[in-house]
Amino acid sequence: MPNVTPESDKPLLSVRGLTKLFGSFAACDGIDLEIGHGEIHALLGENGAGKSTLVKMLFGILAPSSGEIGWEGSVRDIVSPAAARRLGIGMVFQHFSLFEALTVAENIALALDEDISIDEIATKAAELSKAYGLPLDPAAHVADLSVGERQRIEIVRALLQNPKLIILDEPTSVLTPQEADRLFETLFKLKAEGRSVLYISHRLEEVQRICDRATVLRHGKVTGACDPRSETPASLARMMVGSDVASVMRDDDTGLGDIQLRVSKLDLKARTPFAIALKDLSLTVRAGEVLAIAGVAGNGQGELFDALSGEYPADDNEAVQIRGKAVGSLGINARRLLGAGFVPEERNGHGAVATLPLSENLLLARNQSDKRAFLAGGWLKLIRHDTVRSATQRICEAMDVRKSGLDPAAGSLSGGNLQKFIVGRELDRQPTVLVVNQPTWGVDAGAASRIRQALVNLARAGSAVVVISQDLDEIFEVATSIAAISEGRLSPSYPAATMTREKIGLLMGGMHGLETADAH
Ligand code: ADP
Ligand code: MG
Repeated sequence: MPNVTPESDKPLLSVRGLTKLFGSFAACDGIDLEIGHGEIHALLGENGAGKSTLVKMLFGILAPSSGEIGWEGSVRDIVSPAAARRLGIGMVFQHFSLFEALTVAENIALALDEDISIDEIATKAAELSKAYGLPLDPAAHVADLSVGERQRIEIVRALLQNPKLIILDEPTSVLTPQEADRLFETLFKLKAEGRSVLYISHRLEEVQRICDRATVLRHGKVTGACDPRSETPASLARMMVGSDVASVMRDDDTGLGDIQLRVSKLDLKARTPFAIALKDLSLTVRAGEVLAIAGVAGNGQGELFDALSGEYPADDNEAVQIRGKAVGSLGINARRLLGAGFVPEERNGHGAVATLPLSENLLLARNQSDKRAFLAGGWLKLIRHDTVRSATQRICEAMDVRKSGLDPAAGSLSGGNLQKFIVGRELDRQPTVLVVNQPTWGVDAGAASRIRQALVNLARAGSAVVVISQDLDEIFEVATSIAAISEGRLSPSYPAATMTREKIGLLMGGMHGLETADAH
């Protein structure tokens, strides 16, 4: 593609006072943002900061409530994605908008504003994918493609319009480190041609690696604009969160105890056409150990969690052992009675009933044996409200749950505070085996660090902990050993101290058995 030459010396994009109200809530609140030609600009912020809302206004999906968008020196009304594309703005979405049953070329054709034949699109797409290092087969069906390949379709689709600005909304949250590196090379190529990139992320490390400037959002407002390379991860985090973020403290290895959780050659069929089968999966976790399981979303993490918790029991009772007892075909209650605790992946408050107060949420999550402490009166089963309330209070204090009132409805807490409560509720039982799935997904940095510290402390006190996570920073913060799951298969686990991002990336891509020598 030809290089892009600026039509004026004005910034490519200049946004003034851009505001988006949902009812009376300002998702974006008076945002100023400037992007120059040939610049890779980061838009940084915690979950819920307003990043996606901002770029939806730039791409004509949402109409601003007030403020203006300047493009190459003049104010524009961007009324639709087609209008955005005509100006030269392309967008790669956070959640892909592709039809599985169609081919790559057909999917691209659907998104184009002009009428071009499928053959012509296939030829152009092949050229672009070659030029930008984005290998794609135009005739392949989307259903057969990996997440990384699907993202390439979206990028090629945006590039076909010869954009001056390409917006990517959290593009690496679904990629392995190797796939992310390849994406970065494409972005550098776009920049070298004079195109600009608006890159949304909450990953400080990659922002520092690839971006020239960064604008930081918090609660819908700009809290800083900087050159990310002259900042530290701590200073960037402070702009994102508004306060210092404690780093997780760990003792030197205190030594590991007995095996508390053992999975041996677990095979589990997929329950639905979209689920992943678990294949010949084995692991052990000792007292004092945090085993972190890395993986790109959708590789069997949810299925592994269900198999460990008993949500989806196996046929082979011996396949899962908790503290030496075979529990593979038993349900969640039997496993909890042996002292195990489970925190499922938190998505939209699944772990709590929004309308009930925290204390009742606590009671709901307790199994029969735990409940006895909270109940009195035999048949009458009176709830000891005072005991339940004081346990609720203890959990909130231990996890620094910020709330209004003593016992508010779960739904009134922010996402991060509710997640601290849900994790704290399980920790309060002092489980000897704890399995958590994506413990800090979508949680602000302060709450995330609190949760990670609590997991490390639990292991330090002698429990065996499994953390299933997509977040490599989190994994390095908490793990004593690391394995990766890929297409339902688990790699051997390696001591965390011997692991690098690159090694984990290879395991996440399914290349097991690299160096079985130092595996345990
Ligand atoms: P980010 O992309 O930074 O995670 P978003 O822009 O998606 O954040 O959301 C910012 C805030 O606006 C969040 O609190 C979100 O719940 C809210 N929000 C986003 N879209 C809508 C909508 N259509 N209606 C009401 N609230 C919304
Ligand atoms: Mg978003």
